[in-house]
Amino acid sequence: MSHDPNCIFCKISKGEIPSSIFYQDDEVIAFHDIRPAAPVHFLIVPREHIPRLQDSGSDHQALLGKMLLLAPKLAAEQGVTNGFRVVINNGEDGGQEVYHLHVHVMGGPRPWKIG
Ligand code: 5GP
Ligand code: ZN
Repeated sequence: MSHDPNCIFCKISKGEIPSSIFYQDDEVIAFHDIRPAAPVHFLIVPREHIPRLQDSGSDHQALLGKMLLLAPKLAAEQGVTNGFRVVINNGEDGGQEVYHLHVHVMGGPRPWKIG
């Protein structure tokens, strides 16, 4: 499994920098976004360093599906009861800041900081 020693999410996955990880297994971690845009805002992140969606392949099909299946499960565990947004910022014009693939899950009572 590839990692990038300079990548912040690889460092979080390895426990090299602190984060509020509340779910983890061999393939995936989930932790709260440091700058939440909604009352509940967490990230589902593969342990493997995959920079963008276009850097994934058929080998990652199950992993990508797993991340989406985890979204409602973890949202419910985090107390989200009335729906949520699932967002992947991908590439420069997609507004991606951290080039390690991740799924944002945002929920909780509105209004939120963003639309
Ligand atoms: P994106 O790449 O999807 O545009 O944004 C990356 C997200 O990661 C941002 O919402 C940002 O707040 C979050 N983030 C960046 N660095 C850290 C960190 O060190 N810890 C946590 N928990 N979140 C981070
Ligand atoms: Zn990484």
